[in-house]
Amino acid sequence: SVFVPRDGYESIEVLQKNPVAFFSHRHAALLAGLGTFGVNNTLLTPEYGPRVRFGSVLTAAVLPADPLFPEDLCTRCMRCVRACPAGALDERNYPEGLTDKAACTDNSARLARRHISPCGICIGVCPVGEDRRHYGRPAASPGERDRRRRVREHVQKYGGL
Ligand code: SF4
Ligand code: SF4
Repeated sequence: SVFVPRDGYESIEVLQKNPVAFFSHRHAALLAGLGTFGVNNTLLTPEYGPRVRFGSVLTAAVLPADPLFPEDLCTRCMRCVRACPAGALDERNYPEGLTDKAACTDNSARLARRHISPCGICIGVCPVGEDRRHYGRPAASPGERDRRRRVREHVQKYGGL
């Protein structure tokens, strides 16, 4: 068996030059029945929406297969599309509407130069996931989203978030 870790690149500049991964954990997770693709091109899970990271194990072991996830989890609310600061998302669902990788990575590179973690706004605004309830963070109203944006911008002035 071989473990495939989540990230194999050193910096966002590597993805700007060659935005292709040798293995897709998202597709492995889809085929393992863990969730379905959203308009934000991430795999949405019932437990955490898109706020989840995958690693994979490739194995020759004979294991019982799980069925594909039975329902589409994306509600097509388009919050991810509207909130993306780089205009990188398309309203069509994956795979018809692919993320504009250049726009997304250029935005993350700009943030990295300011020592701010990669963007992830399209993940933060997605209302799908039981974790919203668990942490008392239901999908935010427009007013609440505006408040969170101002909080985020304030914190980012100091190089975090
Ligand atoms: S990570 Fe940021 S820039 Fe990239 S698609 Fe999501 S919201 Fe847009
Ligand atoms: S924010 Fe809305 S449209 Fe975007 S992936 Fe989540 S449920 Fe789908």
